[in-house]
Amino acid sequence: MNRYCYLLFAVFILTACGPKQLEPDAAFECSNCESWNEPQEPFRIYGNTWYVGTAGLSSILIETADGLILIDGGLPQSAALIDANIRDLGFDPLTISAILLSHAHYDHAGGIAALQRFTGAAVYTSEAGKKALESGALQEDDPQFLHGPANTSFAAAKNVHAVGDRELVTIGGVDVMAVYTPGHTPGGTSWAWESCALDICYNVVYADSLTAVSAKGYRFSDGPAAEQLIESAGAISELYCDILLSPHPFFFGMQDKLEKRDEGNPFVNNVACMIYAETSLDWLEQRLDSERH
Ligand SMILES: [Zn+2]
Repeated sequence: MNRYCYLLFAVFILTACGPKQLEPDAAFECSNCESWNEPQEPFRIYGNTWYVGTAGLSSILIETADGLILIDGGLPQSAALIDANIRDLGFDPLTISAILLSHAHYDHAGGIAALQRFTGAAVYTSEAGKKALESGALQEDDPQFLHGPANTSFAAAKNVHAVGDRELVTIGGVDVMAVYTPGHTPGGTSWAWESCALDICYNVVYADSLTAVSAKGYRFSDGPAAEQLIESAGAISELYCDILLSPHPFFFGMQDKLEKRDEGNPFVNNVACMIYAETSLDWLEQRLDSERH
C-alpha cells in the first residue's frame, strides 16, 4: 500500500468510526415555525423529569435506571436543538430507548424520524397515531386534513409501536401510562408518570393538545371530534395530577413559571389539569357556537 492509499484508508476509518451525528430532515416552514423553534435552555422540572424542547414546542426527557425516555420531537429543525439540550444536561442522547408521541402533527412529530434514526429508539403512540406517524401524513378524519399534504406532511418514523388506552410503557422501572385523548387529532395521546425526589413523589401529566382547531371546511359539530374532546377533557381532569405539562409550553405557563423558580417549584399545582380541561371545554363551546352562525 503506498502513502496515498494509507491516507485514503485512514480517512475511511475515521469517517466510519467517528462519533455518530444526528442527521436532521429538511426544515418545515410555517408562519409560527421560527418563533416556536427559538432555543430554550433545558432545565429540571422535577425529579427524573426534564424539559429539553424549544421555546415554543415541548420535549420532555425522563431519566430511568435503564436509559432515557423522550416525549415529542418538535419540528424537523427542532431535533438538533433537542439533541444539544440533552447533552447540555449531561445525558447521552444515544441512551434514549423510547420516544413517545402526543399527536402526529408536524410540530410535535416532525423531529421524531431523525431522533429515532440517531438513537435507534422504539417509538410509541396510540393505534390511530401510529398510522399517521408511520405514513408521515394526516389521516382523513384529522380536523386539519384539508390543509393538504404539502402543508401537513412530515418525515415518517419507523419501528412505531401502538399502545392501548391506559397501557404502560415501562423502561428502567419507570411506568409511563398512555391515556387516549383524541379530538385535536384522532390519535391524540396524553402520558402520565410518577416523579420522585428524596421521598416526595408527584404525578406528572403530559396532557395532549385539546384545542378545537381545524382546516377551513371542517366542522366539529358534524364529526366525532367534539364528543371526543369532551371525553378527553374529562379524562385529563380525572387523572392524578400534580404537575401539568403539554405539547405547547404556553399552555402550562412555562415562561411565567421559570421566572418564579425562587419561590419553590411553580410547576407543582394539583388543580392545573382541571383548569386545562375546563379551558379546553370553553374553547370548544366557542368553536361550536361560531359554527352555528
Ligand atoms: Zn396539533
